[in-house]
Amino acid sequence: MRKNIVAGNWKMNTTVAEGVALAKEVDTLLKEKSHNCDVVICVPFTHLTSVKDVIDANILGLGAENCSEHESGAYTGEVSAAMVASTGAGYVILGHSERRQYFGENNEQLLAKTKLALANSLKPIFCVGEVLEERENGSYNDVVQAQIEALFELSAEDFAKIIVAYEPVWAIGTGKTATAEQAQDMHAHIRKVIEDKYGKEIADNTSILYGGSCKPTNARELFSKPDVDGGLIGGAALKADSFMGIVEAFD
Ligand code: PEP
Repeated sequence: MRKNIVAGNWKMNTTVAEGVALAKEVDTLLKEKSHNCDVVICVPFTHLTSVKDVIDANILGLGAENCSEHESGAYTGEVSAAMVASTGAGYVILGHSERRQYFGENNEQLLAKTKLALANSLKPIFCVGEVLEERENGSYNDVVQAQIEALFELSAEDFAKIIVAYEPVWAIGTGKTATAEQAQDMHAHIRKVIEDKYGKEIADNTSILYGGSCKPTNARELFSKPDVDGGLIGGAALKADSFMGIVEAFD
């Protein structure tokens, strides 16, 4: 059966020292009692090794926020999937709307990144989501379907390793959350798109996270929906107590 997952996306926030302190705090709070979901923090590349050293991998997963679509070589400033994996990280966010929007990442690049992540045993947290105009003109189901279909070159065995994150772009960092019903409808649509391609078993086992202004105050309602298997958390992941408040929505 699919897992419930709460994953933090720290984005371009915190120095290494601040990040280590935050990771330690989350790790300590997680040890106080058991929770009904997997918990992951995705941190800047510069933080991976130091954070890895202070967390217990059995209770807190670690991921990067991106990786290169190239394997290695003359790509100054890029960080490869193999490099991320060599830090001990187990996850990588791919296709975040900020990467699509500000860095022009397209479907072809995202497929290449996903293949390299999988080849290096990283679990991709693959982000999809429509912009406000697409929500308003009613094309949102088709837009998200096309983003998912960009991965359909993957074998069933590989696709089964993907975590999907539905993040309506209009809800990211805006304080505007999708209603639990809007999230449920889109998650059910995504699961159906996966089922039509890879079959019911893989679709039922794929964790689909919601992201976009998720907070302790709205997480419980969002996570109560049958196809919402957790959250990808931006702003609220930068404070241990608000992040834990979202983790506890599964308790
Ligand atoms: C995100 O960036 O993945 C995100 C969901 O951000 P926020 O929670 O701040 O809306």
